[in-house]
Amino acid sequence: MSIEIRNVSKHFGDFQALGDVSLDIESGELVALLGPSGCGKTTLLRIIAGLETPDRGSILFSGEDTTDVHVRERQVGFVFQHYALFRHMTVFENVAFGLRVKPRASRPSEAQIREKVHSLLSLVQLDWLADRFPSQLSGGQRQRIALARALAVEPKVLLLDEPFGALDAKVRKELRRWLRRLHDDLHVTSIFVTHDQEEALEVADRVVLMNQGKVEQIGSPQQVWDHPASPFVYGFLGDVNLFHGRAHEGEVHLEGLRIDSPEHADAQDAKAFAYVRPHDLEVQRYSPGAEGIVAHLERAIVIGPIARLELVPAEGYEQKGNASGDSIIEAQMPSQQFKEMGLREGDMLVVTPRKARVFVEG
Ligand code: ATP
Repeated sequence: MSIEIRNVSKHFGDFQALGDVSLDIESGELVALLGPSGCGKTTLLRIIAGLETPDRGSILFSGEDTTDVHVRERQVGFVFQHYALFRHMTVFENVAFGLRVKPRASRPSEAQIREKVHSLLSLVQLDWLADRFPSQLSGGQRQRIALARALAVEPKVLLLDEPFGALDAKVRKELRRWLRRLHDDLHVTSIFVTHDQEEALEVADRVVLMNQGKVEQIGSPQQVWDHPASPFVYGFLGDVNLFHGRAHEGEVHLEGLRIDSPEHADAQDAKAFAYVRPHDLEVQRYSPGAEGIVAHLERAIVIGPIARLELVPAEGYEQKGNASGDSIIEAQMPSQQFKEMGLREGDMLVVTPRKARVFVEG
């Protein structure tokens, strides 16, 4: 089932939670709604589900206006962060619930329910837990049962709100892979909400980046990573350093260095922002006259193959820092290189971007 979201707006009192959001989701796609806390992801998901009504705009399922269709008639399955399994029911009964409460005419027989529940439990690889109660399961197991329960009624659309949010990092990773495989088997049109960029990029066919109630960019993980449409997208998708400077006729001048930026050939002394990922910063020992940003090594964190460096720019270097607004520059290099260079905290260094993404104002 395809989903079209057309010009949807939503206010809570004076606060605009969604402003004119439009989005097309193809049948069988797995889409992530990604953005910072409060940007409107859950509100959009709830509107698609029919749990919330938009002020303006419409939702179409397979081309049909569904805006006023009741949640129960929309054929959507949900899984929320706090997997609300029924505590007094076994795993089997939890998964069977949606089938048992169907109207008499469409309710399957007891034998059909047994078969269906066992096949769903096999699908989520937890058939052996059928007789347990939710309190006897791990968080990850509960989440998979919640998904099996949502799938029992054969929804046309599956909506997942931070489905793995409450779990520890390792279990989250396992469940991500598992969700992707499950989706590849079932092809149910699915939308999941996350504020974790790694989760969105790893699992989804397409990522919808949201900020302050608006869609900033829609694209495949590769597209949004390689061609971020705005500074917000670039900053949100990974660690990044932000350098302020000025762009003039294809060159960007930052304090202490100059970067070629051919796509800004028309710029005439315009305000410019250069975004540089930590692994795109070249780090060398300081030598007088070297072009680059002079900084001292404040802290080095060496874990496994990667050394992460925190650098403090030298006095007088006014416009520098990372996207979160403090003045630390973050760099990354292989641990081996860090050892070979014999770097110590307090050493003076010079950094130059190997690759930068430049945005020019105006
Ligand atoms: P998070 O990742 O923190 O869950 P989100 O992107 O899902 O955030 P929403 O839950 O959609 O954000 O909320 C968007 C904004 O709307 C927030 O500022 C929130 O406080 C506000 N909001 C959401 N629901 C209501 C409500 N029922 N009444 C008033 N304000 C609301």
